[in-house]
Amino acid sequence: MPAETMQFKTELKQLLHLIIHSLYSHKDIFLRELISNASDAIDRVRFEGLTKPELLEDNADWKIKLIPDEANRTLTISDNGVGMSRETIVDQLGTIARSDTREFLDSLKAADAKERPDLIGQFGVGFYASFMVADKVTVLSRMAGAAANGVKWESAGAGDFSIEDCTKPTRGTDVILHLREDAKEFLDKNRLHNLVKKYSDFVEHPIVMDVENDGKTIEDTLNARKAIWLRNKSDVNDDEYHAFYKHLSHDVNNPLKTIHYKAEGQMEFKALLYVPAKKPFDLMWGDSKKGLHLYIQRVFILDDCETLLPKYLRFVRGVVDSPDLPLNVSREILQHSAPLEKIKSNLTSKVLSTLDELKRKEFDQYVGFYNELGMFLKEGAYQDWENKKKLADLLLFESTKTDAGKFTTLADYVERMPGDQTEIYYLAGDGREVLEQSPLLESFKAKSWEVLLLTDPADEFVVDSQHEYKGKQLKAIDKAGIDQTNISDDTKKRFQPLLDYFKEKIGDVGDARLTNRLKESAVCLVSDEHAMSASMERLMQRMQRDGPMPASKRILEVNPEHSLVQALATLLEKDKNDARLEGAARLLYDQAVILEGSKVKDPLAFAQRLNTLLLTDANK
Ligand code: ADP
Ligand code: MG
Repeated sequence: MPAETMQFKTELKQLLHLIIHSLYSHKDIFLRELISNASDAIDRVRFEGLTKPELLEDNADWKIKLIPDEANRTLTISDNGVGMSRETIVDQLGTIARSDTREFLDSLKAADAKERPDLIGQFGVGFYASFMVADKVTVLSRMAGAAANGVKWESAGAGDFSIEDCTKPTRGTDVILHLREDAKEFLDKNRLHNLVKKYSDFVEHPIVMDVENDGKTIEDTLNARKAIWLRNKSDVNDDEYHAFYKHLSHDVNNPLKTIHYKAEGQMEFKALLYVPAKKPFDLMWGDSKKGLHLYIQRVFILDDCETLLPKYLRFVRGVVDSPDLPLNVSREILQHSAPLEKIKSNLTSKVLSTLDELKRKEFDQYVGFYNELGMFLKEGAYQDWENKKKLADLLLFESTKTDAGKFTTLADYVERMPGDQTEIYYLAGDGREVLEQSPLLESFKAKSWEVLLLTDPADEFVVDSQHEYKGKQLKAIDKAGIDQTNISDDTKKRFQPLLDYFKEKIGDVGDARLTNRLKESAVCLVSDEHAMSASMERLMQRMQRDGPMPASKRILEVNPEHSLVQALATLLEKDKNDARLEGAARLLYDQAVILEGSKVKDPLAFAQRLNTLLLTDANK
């Protein structure tokens, strides 16, 4: 194949530009990234070699070698991993095949310069960190199973890279960094040794370097290669746990919770799991690939998150190691095997019970967690029927009995319910302030019944899907059918003409009926028991791409105790053609629309009607 020069994809160009021109601190993470790639490459060929031993070519002495070369000012990171073909190298090192690159670039630009290197690591474009220290990078690679010919990729990180055939006798990849003048420090063997200790001590494969010893050159292993998940809990300290978490996650913060346990019985396995303290950066757009790592007797098998935990727990990081799984079956067979399903359900219970314990014992910390990662639990409460109850216990809500920004659990709500209250009530809307003004709350306040205030659109989906909690129905208070009792027949008869008038004059009113749920307010709007609530409808309308969907007709509930309502009824009785009637009816309706947090359909007409009214009043 001829030598070629190819252009980087546009977004990659921008990314490289940022890496080269705006990253000054934490340059040393390049080494961690390249070692991590070398280690991944070894894992891959080792795994494939289980079923296709010919790929190993009698070269299974796994090794990542660092070769600093003072004379040429180069640092080479060499591995005997799976290697890359010409095609893969163009594909993997010339494009970033990810849908969320745009968003990533934007947040990279917005982020503090200090945080950027970590973001890069977390995003998984680690290879390009090379250009933080090198003004030219050469990659020599030969893929496992390919003939003796290798491929040479080279770039100065500007707009393009070149690619040509080359001879490479050994399988694997050499990444040769032509260090910049200001990155000469990375030729220093002590410096390299310390960096490996700092960032890559947990890498399973030996990271080696030639060192002089009594005039002889020997190959020294720099990393401890600790499989701490296999050790006993009592033998591992927090520092080690945290360092391993950072190694796995590329997160700079310590984890919120470390879960290390050994399962025995039906399935034997060891698990070391972490709950992050902050939302992992790469989860923000739901395109995360990295979940738990599955090992079988220390051999890395896969890190696809949904195999070991349900999707909604994708924020959990860690390692699972089981001696009971078959080593030499294909990934696909393994992924769908019954033993793995058992491990999955065990891990899920463990994560959920750990969170529940955190909630019970350190509520403030749990709230911090919930603010960062609660969205994933909501996703779970909506999807995971098997653990529905446990997830419901983990949900938090604001309510009329919490201060703004403070939460209650459903269990505590039920605990507080007065004897005559049999259902759990909620109201969803755009914000606590709007919700607190709602006339719908009046009768609940009067009875001192608590109402959950759902301010996150996801909450309403979740609560809707739960239906009940501990045998108590979850009821939206903006639905009809609450508090209609105890209205006398006389009252009903007296106000029927007014109700009919509302229905006739106001097109958006599907039905009008009396209520005694209101105290201070004259009217309010509710949905039919089986229709969408107002907030759900607003949400749907926002999500609607092709034009607005027709709003459903609402039910106008009228308070017969209110003097305004009584005055209107009297007016109607006297003269149903009175010019003031229609304006007043419309004003009342629009008021109810505003109070539920929706928009008045015709704001101009609303203002005019109000002005007319104010003027009549002023002219009296
Ligand atoms: P990530 O490791 O998150 O996939 P990187 O930018 O670090 O992202 O690497 C991009 C891709 O380049 C890797 O997924 C891998 O396919 C390939 N690659 C990088 N380094 C090596 C290597 N030493 N051996 C084989 N493939 C490699
Ligand atoms: Mg990488």
